[in-house]
Amino acid sequence: MNLGLYIHIPFCRRKCLYCDFPSVAGAEELYAAYTAALCREIAGKGGLLSACAVDTVYIGGGTPTVLPTECLAAIGRCLRQSVAVAPGAEFTVEANPGTLAGDKLAALRAAGASRVSLGVQAFDDKVLAAAGRIHTAAEAAEAAWTVRAAGFARVSVDLMYGLPRQTPAGFRAGLERAAALPVEHISAYGLKVEEGTPFAALAAAGRLALPDEEDEEAMYDMAAAFLPAHGFRRYEISNYARPGAECRHNMKYWRYEPYVGVGAAAHSFWQGERTANVADVREYIARVAAGGEATISRERPAPAVAMAEYAFLALRTAEGVSFAAFAARFGEDFLRRYGAVVDRLAGQGLVAADGDGLRLTAQGQKYGNVVFASFLPDG
Ligand code: SF4
Repeated sequence: MNLGLYIHIPFCRRKCLYCDFPSVAGAEELYAAYTAALCREIAGKGGLLSACAVDTVYIGGGTPTVLPTECLAAIGRCLRQSVAVAPGAEFTVEANPGTLAGDKLAALRAAGASRVSLGVQAFDDKVLAAAGRIHTAAEAAEAAWTVRAAGFARVSVDLMYGLPRQTPAGFRAGLERAAALPVEHISAYGLKVEEGTPFAALAAAGRLALPDEEDEEAMYDMAAAFLPAHGFRRYEISNYARPGAECRHNMKYWRYEPYVGVGAAAHSFWQGERTANVADVREYIARVAAGGEATISRERPAPAVAMAEYAFLALRTAEGVSFAAFAARFGEDFLRRYGAVVDRLAGQGLVAADGDGLRLTAQGQKYGNVVFASFLPDG
């Protein structure tokens, strides 16, 4: 059985103002203990991780590249000892411009990493500063070249639209700069103001000036038109890749395939059960160091929920839902179960069915959340 492995590094140099990802800033004193706990958790899962063919590894965060070289090298050694990484596996590391000094990239290459996903977000210094990013646009561009020169076969760049001080013209210029870099993959996410972030506090105080809806939609439309016209196929709502450079690890999430997550706040999906590790970094370290379980929740989605999740995750992708794959997995006919939902959404121009499956239309990609909610049992 093939399996994805996700490794969470919950540290950042500084928190971006929009970010609600599980990461903490300024906790350098925890790096060594966290790395040791992570390696202990990986070793503890060694039976599973060596019985399956781990064909994707993804080190995400946070900012994995804030860890010092010796921690990155230790994670690499631990993977070699405990994990059966399949030949030709995709091995991604998330990185931020401004955190790649020294021989970190060489340590990651030695650990087996072949793909870097660079968090860039924008190519405009005013926009980057307003979002609390730690780097400039020039440093971001330079980082892509540095990663390529270090021998990584695949480079991806993350962009955002709808940020404070961002304009459609500025976003368009950012798309052009991204596409001109040595990258095979570009993600473009819309800003969501998440509860508990500095942006949410600024919004509540009426001090967060965001682009208006029309400009935000114009930026969304630009990414959807510009990137495919420049060779980046849209294979998921927010993800674009040159042919063959799609992120295989993330495809596992959308295809409802199994993965194991290690580290604070990491999630797993294995044999139909979803589990989550404790999010608090100190508690994670303490639990694992004491030989305890990092997992704090387990849930086996009811069949109706699992079918709905399968449907809306598949719909995020260009391949959509395959009726045959759905029937093979759940023993049910997709259209018998969801015929009324499909008819309604098709009538609204949001989905299109053919004999084999169901996909989002261009309009459906724009209003994906309306579509996805329709499949939930209480949708
Ligand atoms: S670098 Fe990424 S994970 Fe860290 S605070 Fe910024 S957006 Fe969040």
